[in-house]
Amino acid sequence: MKKIFVIAIVLFFGLAVKGFSQTVYASDKGEKYHTADCKLSGDAKDMTLAAAKKAGKGACGICKPDEHFKDKVAQCSGKTADGTRCKRMTSSKEGKCYQHKSA
Ligand SMILES: [Zn+2]
Ligand SMILES: [Zn+2]
Repeated sequence: MKKIFVIAIVLFFGLAVKGFSQTVYASDKGEKYHTADCKLSGDAKDMTLAAAKKAGKGACGICKPDEHFKDKVAQCSGKTADGTRCKRMTSSKEGKCYQHKSA
């Protein structure tokens, strides 16, 4: 029964919100969802980002699938300790990643 529910959600979001149908990876018991190349994804199955969120899963703090999928990403405008441009991508209004934005 639960599987049917998930499939219905996947189909609904897949059709209704095309831009929200990015694939993430999560196991049934896992509380986090991951990108495909995350070492923590383990035996995860693919599902849409929307389905993972519906299932109450949160973004992995290591692979940061949310940052991965955001449409309007830009390179962080902050500088690292050695004076070079930060290589992190961000979608924040400030144009800075979580490390450089003012809390
Ligand atoms: Zn991960
Ligand atoms: Zn940065």
